Amino acid sequence: GGIFRYSTAAVVEEPINPSVNVNYTQLLINGQFVDAATGKTFETLDPRTGNVIASVAEGDAEDVNRAVSAARKAFDEGPWPRMSPYERSKILLRFADLLEKHNDEIAALETWDNGKPFEQAAKAEVPLVIRLMRYYAGWADKIHGLTVPADGLHQVQTLHEPIGVAGQIIPWNFPLLMYAWKIGPALACGNTIVLKTAEQTPLSALYASKLLHEAGLPPGVLNVVSGYGPTAGAALASHMDVDKLAFTGSTATGKIVLQLAARSNLKPVTLELGGKSPFIVCEDANVDEAVELAHFALFFNQGQCCCAGSRTFVHESIYDEFVEKAKARALRRTVGDPFKAGIEQGPQIDSDQFEKILRYIRSGVENGATLETGGERFGKEGFFIKPTVFSNVQDGMLIAQDEIFGPVQSILKFKDLGEVIRRANATSYGLAAGVFTQNLDTANTLTRALKVGTVWINCFDVFDAAIPFGGYKMSGHGREKGIYSLQNYLQVKAVITPLKNPACQVARIRQS
Ligand code: NAD
Repeated sequence: GGIFRYSTAAVVEEPINPSVNVNYTQLLINGQFVDAATGKTFETLDPRTGNVIASVAEGDAEDVNRAVSAARKAFDEGPWPRMSPYERSKILLRFADLLEKHNDEIAALETWDNGKPFEQAAKAEVPLVIRLMRYYAGWADKIHGLTVPADGLHQVQTLHEPIGVAGQIIPWNFPLLMYAWKIGPALACGNTIVLKTAEQTPLSALYASKLLHEAGLPPGVLNVVSGYGPTAGAALASHMDVDKLAFTGSTATGKIVLQLAARSNLKPVTLELGGKSPFIVCEDANVDEAVELAHFALFFNQGQCCCAGSRTFVHESIYDEFVEKAKARALRRTVGDPFKAGIEQGPQIDSDQFEKILRYIRSGVENGATLETGGERFGKEGFFIKPTVFSNVQDGMLIAQDEIFGPVQSILKFKDLGEVIRRANATSYGLAAGVFTQNLDTANTLTRALKVGTVWINCFDVFDAAIPFGGYKMSGHGREKGIYSLQNYLQVKAVITPLKNPACQVARIRQS
């Protein structure tokens, strides 16, 4: 299933042996691993220690040019958009099989580069990637246009054609999952791709792309450029020969890439941006269950989720009990080496995020929120932060306004439904919301009133390939996953032919 859940079994002291080699560190252009045109490399770090894992080719504008040329040629002349959709589907299915075969290796690479618990990567995320590839493999041969009745004097059809060369830019919090969300629908529709990974986490996409070529992907269909945002990313967003851009990352960067797209060739852009999602615990809640789910909603993936339930609104009648238990749960959270079994929380991605989160924690204290637990570094090395809980958080505080992207839970008190709806919506974001209640009327009211792209009722972070995901307001444009993301990668062409003998005349011809 698509639910990120794993048992909080006792921590085993021996680390799981990741047994993974870093074999792919170059750019992937036209089916070949190649160095950057400048010869430059950058280091990708192990967030447990800050030590270097590997030097990776650093793509820049010239490499993006080469990659876009390869993708253009593969689209204009290559077999991918022209082969039968069933053949495309089979390649994606073989890719899914190979991912399954290498599930633990690829999960280990993800944990090493990103710091997320290995069990989460191996048992939830890589399986979700596999599921998503099979889901879109299933779509490949079911994409078709319509016959449109129109005026009765014309035969009118729509052709659904691939859009061309897709530029895709992804973040570091779910490196492989974001890669899958992007490439799955684009490939199913017959497009070619230049994808830029996040500079913090280049490794898993290169490994997976090698497997995709092993599965039979023709050269040039998927090109992967590692590198930085203002260089390689900006070159891709502003490229005149890229037909569509898909971006996941921060709202600030989303504004930049939208401008770059507008100033170049006006390519359509889909954006998956930040959030400040409310998690609303109503007065009828079973407090223990609500505490557990609210904890998961915020702390999952070290708090580095765009949809994290980062404003925990709790009804005043159960507030004190909730805060006490939320604090106790955070204190029980197992933090440590993400390769150890039973570890719930690994390090933050890098020192920038680590410092940023600690700054937000200091601002919470200075603004008068109550620091219930945590609030500081965990251990002596790497980028670990103790699970942190603030109570008495007020709407105007920075920690209730900004996306912290870390293991910091902010608990706010509310009195009635109208008030919590108004406060939950009082943000420029609109990505997701959690609702915890047994009352169907309350759930229905909140579902319709919240200005967000996803409402999880009595659950959170359920991410099946078939469920669309995306934001209202400044959380983005468009939807990914499910049937909805296909339309991001298709052009609709209307084809009109006059009918020599329109339907009415055909009837008369038959009569005579
Ligand atoms: P970021 O915006 O800095 O980086 C995201 C990607 O954009 C990276 O690949 C980066 O190299 C690239 N980039 C940066 N500057 C660029 C530029 N000028 N031109 C082109 N590309 C550029 O975000 P981040 O800090 O790495 O990621 C965390 C953010 O992403 C959070 O705000 C989070 O909410 C958001 N996020 C959203 C979703 C979603 O689906 N809505 C998913 C994951 C993360």
